[in-house]
Amino acid sequence: MKEIIIATKNEGKAKEFKTLFARYNIKAVSLLDLSEELPDIEETGSTFEENAALKSEGIAEILNIPVIADDSGLVVDALDGRPGIFSARYAGEPKDDKKNLEKVLDELEDVPKEDRSARFVCVLAVTIPGEQTIFKKGFCEGTIAYVEKGSHGFGYDPIFIPKGYNQTMAELGPEEKNKISHRKNAMIQLEDWIQNQR
Ligand code: IMP
Repeated sequence: MKEIIIATKNEGKAKEFKTLFARYNIKAVSLLDLSEELPDIEETGSTFEENAALKSEGIAEILNIPVIADDSGLVVDALDGRPGIFSARYAGEPKDDKKNLEKVLDELEDVPKEDRSARFVCVLAVTIPGEQTIFKKGFCEGTIAYVEKGSHGFGYDPIFIPKGYNQTMAELGPEEKNKISHRKNAMIQLEDWIQNQR
């Protein structure tokens, strides 16, 4: 079985990537699985692409092997695209998923249902040492709920209702999420590249 390094220390993301790559018979190894402690890469970019590349290129340079990194987040139309690239720390340091989603709910308090459109975005950056980094992007469209519901997933899942559903992503659970998520859709875009790795 082939292995690929996923440049993330986020347990929720690592778990989803492992499931998604397993379908292609590729073992996804996250930074949480490595015995050596790698430095945290600062996400100083101003786009999902820049931040994903900082992570994939930074880790590929240290390990000298192919690395995939993702940068993802929630884009809310009524908030001019926020939290966007600041999704992980929207309510400040230290990173707190519950505070983040409460901040979004507070900011949308008076916003009617028809104006609560949002999407999850995932940009994958793939760096093979010595080659140009390639990018693939996936989306998951939906709306922001009025209250948080459900216990699966992570981040903003308890307040995100995917298009075509009437439950939040956190109520739907991992199997359904992995069929429709922004990460899954970005992985579909990466399929050609994956085929060539086998
Ligand atoms: P990153 O680690 O900089 O890519 O930050 C991603 C942040 O976006 C996470 O910490 C979550 O707050 C949010 N996010 C990304 N993907 C998801 C998802 O699948 N569900 C819920 N929140 C997500």
